[in-house]
Amino acid sequence: MSRRSWAEPFKIKMVEPLQMTTPEERERAIAEAGYNTFLLRSRDVYIDLLTDSGTSAMSDRQWAGMMLGDEAYAGSENYYHLEEVVRRYYGYRHVVPTHQGRGAEHMLSRMLIKPGDVVPGNMYFTTTRAHQELAGGRFADVICDAAHDASSEAPFKGNVDLEKFERLVAKVGAARIPYFCLQCCVNMAGGQPVSLGNIEAVSAACRRHGIRLMLDATRAVENAWFIQQREPGYASWSIADILLRICSFTDGCTNSAKKDCLVNIGGFLCLNDDALAEEARNLVVLFEGLHTYGGLAGRDLEAMAIGITESVRQEHIHARVGQVEYLGDLLTRAGVPIVRPVGGHGIFINAAEFLDHMPREEFPAQALAAALYIDSGVRAMERGAVSAGRDADTGKNIYPSLELVRLTIPRRVYTQAHMDVTAESVISLFENRSRVSGLRMTFEPKYLRFFQARFEPVHPSGRVLDRAGAGR
Ligand SMILES: *Cc1c(COP(=O)(O)O)cnc(C)c1O
Repeated sequence: MSRRSWAEPFKIKMVEPLQMTTPEERERAIAEAGYNTFLLRSRDVYIDLLTDSGTSAMSDRQWAGMMLGDEAYAGSENYYHLEEVVRRYYGYRHVVPTHQGRGAEHMLSRMLIKPGDVVPGNMYFTTTRAHQELAGGRFADVICDAAHDASSEAPFKGNVDLEKFERLVAKVGAARIPYFCLQCCVNMAGGQPVSLGNIEAVSAACRRHGIRLMLDATRAVENAWFIQQREPGYASWSIADILLRICSFTDGCTNSAKKDCLVNIGGFLCLNDDALAEEARNLVVLFEGLHTYGGLAGRDLEAMAIGITESVRQEHIHARVGQVEYLGDLLTRAGVPIVRPVGGHGIFINAAEFLDHMPREEFPAQALAAALYIDSGVRAMERGAVSAGRDADTGKNIYPSLELVRLTIPRRVYTQAHMDVTAESVISLFENRSRVSGLRMTFEPKYLRFFQARFEPVHPSGRVLDRAGAGR
């Protein structure tokens, strides 16, 4: 049979010109940024794969919706539209908007966690864990072992290991576990999905122990795509129906709408419990804004409502994940070590293997992200020891099993040609990997250090990438 490709289910109506820079300019820019891609100015970036958070392109419908913003302080029409859409697609009873995902995480952690509590989850997420710890809790990872194995081809590497969960309950007691935090398309594992069978089993275990199950629904739509594609029994289900089923096993969710929901800012907290929802509506006034705007403008709520309805369309999610797979296939064919199978929102380069000459203390993923930027102006981000931070008890650096560079693909923003340019740069660095040297940290912020930490090259030349012979 002849090949049939997917293509983007949209055409381009407006363009944003990109800044082109020289390698010398980029060397200067990354040195000024302390070799931290988070500290680069976006005008110095060519292809920005730092994150898929808030970087989506909105549709003409969403922009039109922005003009329908009802900027009333209380009872905005757009809030009611959002509430209706969230109830329809996510299925929860109560919806409290927040300025972004961490606003919802803050409120949930504050309401449910008491000092000394333990919150199990399938791998940590930076802001989620930070809020659990701020509330006095401790995060306990109960994800399956395959998640930590970059070479495992298991289809649902985000799955919870139920035995690990049971052992934790036996050890600390269900009374010390306020809720289970279940993440979809587990970000730090490489965007690896959770199966519906696993979600159902986690839900049953939680109910047995009287523990709430809260979903981090940030990437639940992308997770629904993998269930449809990989889990027996769901091939004929729509994305919307799978999403509803995922949520149906849980008691509520936090959500960063800056990801799946196709907006530049926004989030929400959902709860089925009436009393808890009442408490959330009290808290949101203190930290975000009234419960009918949650720190957002009416127009933002409208764009979010429309974005959610667009996010669950089959052709959208096919093209979104398809583009990620396209980049992954180019790199895999060239032998670049990446986390397999390719997840929902980006390519995760196994930096420890890519730069196997570099000790972990020299932050190989941080160094590789800096070198990639110098080579081609592609901005990636570190997801390894810098992101993992320090152990809350011992204060020692955590060296997670996965030391990754994330190439995160914004939704509906870049073309296949941008993916080709990115792949060619990564492959060229891989072929010249001995030219990349390590970094030492010179400034370390107290919280979420990866955002603002600064580094310098350990090499006597003062360079992270020896460009000798490179002719670009
Ligand atoms: C982005 C993200 C968050 C936090 O959301 P923000 O909108 O950035 O505050 C929480 N969980 C996951 C899985 C995320 O990807």
